[in-house]
Amino acid sequence: MFPKELVELAQKRISPYQTEGFVTGKGPLNPKIMFVGEAPGRNEIEKGEPFIGRAGDQLNEFMEQIGLTRDDVYITSVVRSRPYKIVEKTDKEGNLITKTPNRAPTKKEMLAHAPLLDYQIQHMNPSIIVTLGGIALKRLLGNQYKITEVHGQLLEKPIYQLKNLNENQYSTSEKNHLVFPTFHPASVFYRQILKETIYEDFHQLGEVLEGLEYHN
Ligand code: URA
Repeated sequence: MFPKELVELAQKRISPYQTEGFVTGKGPLNPKIMFVGEAPGRNEIEKGEPFIGRAGDQLNEFMEQIGLTRDDVYITSVVRSRPYKIVEKTDKEGNLITKTPNRAPTKKEMLAHAPLLDYQIQHMNPSIIVTLGGIALKRLLGNQYKITEVHGQLLEKPIYQLKNLNENQYSTSEKNHLVFPTFHPASVFYRQILKETIYEDFHQLGEVLEGLEYHN
């Protein structure tokens, strides 16, 4: 879906940082709904598909509740490569082992891949963007937004994008977009209590989607 040069540029810009692989996103090319996550993890890089690991199963569960399937939504993320850190540990036998767990993307990595998300939003023009987690929320609406304050609400706002490829600062879009923030599905793994909250947010999203059908 991306022009080859755009992918090459983004790959070149992210190359100084500790990331690997590339996942393009998946779903219908004229989606009503676009889900924006954080960055692919190890499972996603292996299979080349977004949200197919544990977080993906959890996302499916939330979507099912309101009758959405993967065919109804385009799923993408702020960064398209897997950010990882290097952790050295000693195992039971005393051998030094190196692990490379997933980590959240940095601001520089987000900027390196910003033209990709900008391109997808501009060309696919979804009716509603659902941000999954604080990283996607802040990337699109700005750092002043807190997920704990705005989750489950429909916001109609300009979004942050790069005006041109050589900018290294975001500016706001001329047009307003409908943005619906909720928590990242993986957040339930470390805060079980959020599961109920995300179910409620998705219920709310279902109502919003019904309203949008009505107006179209
Ligand atoms: N988290 C994301 O943000 N994206 C994925 O594809 C998987 C986990």
